[in-house]
Amino acid sequence: MGKTIGKTIGKTIFIGARKGGVGKTTTTASLGVGLARKGKKTLLIDADSQHSLTVSLGVREPDKLPFTLATAMNHIISETDFDPTDGIIHHAEGVDLLPANSSLTGIELSLAPLIGRETVLKQYVEQLKPRYDYILIDTAPTLDLLTVNALAAADSVIIPVVPKYLDAIGLELLLKSIAQIQRQINLSLEIEGILLTMVDRRANFTQEIISLVENAYGGKIRIFGEHIPRSIRAAECSARGVSIYQYDPKGKAAAAYAALVGEVLNCG
Ligand code: ATP
Ligand code: MG
Repeated sequence: MGKTIGKTIGKTIFIGARKGGVGKTTTTASLGVGLARKGKKTLLIDADSQHSLTVSLGVREPDKLPFTLATAMNHIISETDFDPTDGIIHHAEGVDLLPANSSLTGIELSLAPLIGRETVLKQYVEQLKPRYDYILIDTAPTLDLLTVNALAAADSVIIPVVPKYLDAIGLELLLKSIAQIQRQINLSLEIEGILLTMVDRRANFTQEIISLVENAYGGKIRIFGEHIPRSIRAAECSARGVSIYQYDPKGKAAAAYAALVGEVLNCG
C-alpha cells in the first residue's frame, strides 16, 4: 500500500518481467498517462538503459539530455546535493518523465563497489514521493543491479505476461527474485498483479495458457481482470510519442488500459 505523504499517495510501482518484449514499456506509458488523466500526479522513471520509454514519450535525442536518471543516481552515489526535480520532463498528456539515455549503461559499474548499492534509487524515489501520487518504474528484462534498485525502491510490482508457453517460465523466475528481494532488501514489497498483455483471442492456445496462469497463481497473486489485447495501434503510438488514448481513443487497447487504470486506483 502507498503511504500517504501530505496530499499525495506516493505509491511506487515496479513494472517488470524477466522476459523481453512483453509490454513493460507500453504498460508503463499507458498506465501512467491513464493515471494522469484521472488527475493523479504521476511520474514515470525510465530505468532501462535501452531507454525505450523515453523515446516512446517523444524525446527524440535522449543522448543530448543534460540530466537523466543516471545523473540523479550518480549525484546520490557521490553525495552531491541536487534538486530532485532536476531533469524531469513534463509530457503534453499530463504525465512527468524522468528520462534515461545511453549513459545509464555505466551505472552498473558505479553501483557495484558501493555499500548500500541496492538502495541508491530508493534514496532518490523517497525524495520524489511527496510530490507524486504514483511513480511507475519501467525496467529491463534482466535482473541487474539497476533492476534490483527498482525493486528495492518500489511498494508494489506489476508483471506483464504474454500468454505464450515460454513466458510463463519468465514469470516463475521473476517471482523467485521478488521473494528474495522481499526477504533481504524490501520487506514491504507487494505484488500488485499479473497483467496479461498482447492477448490474441484468435490464437487457440491463448485461453489454455491464461487458464494455466490462473490455476498456478490465481489463488496467491491477483491477475488483473482486464487483459490488454494485441493491437497494432498500441505498437504504433510509441513511434508518435503519444499515448494510446490520444492515438486511438476509441480502440480496444485504449479501453483495456483505461480499465486497468481503474483497477490500479482501486488497489489504493
Ligand atoms: P523490452 O523487454 O525490450 O523492454 P517491453 O517488455 O518493454 O520490451 P514493449 O516495448 O512495451 O515491451 O513492447 C514490445 C513491442 O510490442 C513494441 O514494439 C510495442 O510497441 C509492441 N506492443 C506493446 N503492446 C502491444 C499490444 N498490446 N499489441 C501489439 N503490440 C504491442
Ligand atoms: Mg521496455
